[in-house]
Amino acid sequence: MIIGENIKQAALIIREGGLVAFPTETVYGLGANALNPMAVAKIFEAKQRPSFDPLIVHIHHFDEIYALFSSPISHWVQKLAEAFWPGPLTIVHKKSTSVPHIVTSGLETVAVRMPSHPTAIALLKASECAIAAPSANRFGQISPTEASHVTKQLQDIDYVLLGEKVTLGIESTVVSVADEGCFILRPGVITAEDLEKVVPLCSHNPNETIGSLSSPGLLHSHYAPTKPMYLLDNTMDILPPHSGIIVHTNKKNWNTAQAIFITSQNGDKKEIASNLFAAFHTMEDNKAIQQIFIEPVEENGIGIAIMDRIKKAVFKYK
Ligand code: AMP
Ligand code: MG
Repeated sequence: MIIGENIKQAALIIREGGLVAFPTETVYGLGANALNPMAVAKIFEAKQRPSFDPLIVHIHHFDEIYALFSSPISHWVQKLAEAFWPGPLTIVHKKSTSVPHIVTSGLETVAVRMPSHPTAIALLKASECAIAAPSANRFGQISPTEASHVTKQLQDIDYVLLGEKVTLGIESTVVSVADEGCFILRPGVITAEDLEKVVPLCSHNPNETIGSLSSPGLLHSHYAPTKPMYLLDNTMDILPPHSGIIVHTNKKNWNTAQAIFITSQNGDKKEIASNLFAAFHTMEDNKAIQQIFIEPVEENGIGIAIMDRIKKAVFKYK
């Protein structure tokens, strides 16, 4: 594994069918040439990701959608792209025949996103191909927001690209789009209120095929530290021994905690999202801690996406 900043070298590895971890504005991704099924297979192997969980294809130019989506392309795709690309929105639409089945886990739809992160864009340009990339973590574990989070979990990567900081900190909003409108498959920093200004929201997935797992982002347990994590009950004042606590303001003095991670001094949701996975990683790495408590946030705006990640992280320990 090479760890470095050489975009040309990383792009060459992508073109030759290798794996490159790279930063985006949401989280670190683990990328391979999206149209090379052998290369994409290595992503599933490295992450130990089950084959039913499809990948997001990353592009740097809007016209690339014509090779990935099948015609007729819903006019909402252009509207969404104008409003939110480059940025943290993934659009799921009926796929073209050139997208390999391994990328979409056999679904007839493909997920596509244009990131805004300068390092990701530079890699996409230099690679001259679309890059399939899920988050660069072991399946079910915590998403990475720094290169060290990637190397902690994954070994079989050819290149870990260093670059500008990951700013948003949680995965993209995923929407399924057809002529009827769009349906949110996974909440993210782009909220329902943001989307509603551009496209009608559907009450069901317009691309759903009966019997398929329409969005594996809907799995109950995900993004979880390897230690037990519990939702903090607001009547709790004293923590059990060897506890770590993640809070979103500095209002209360947690002197029974072994370690405290404050994601935001004043409950700012963007700041909480940006620091959430770093908090999970810090607690996971701290050997003095046996269990983690995390404060919930109000479920509105970006709070919906933050609570989605928190609920999946605590699911096994409810
Ligand atoms: P990750 O980048 O690791 O967060 O994983 C990508 C996520 O995108 C998947 O877990 C799904 O939730 C979603 N996704 C990718 N492709 C599709 C698709 N064709 N249909 C629905 N959801 C998808
Ligand atoms: Mg992921």
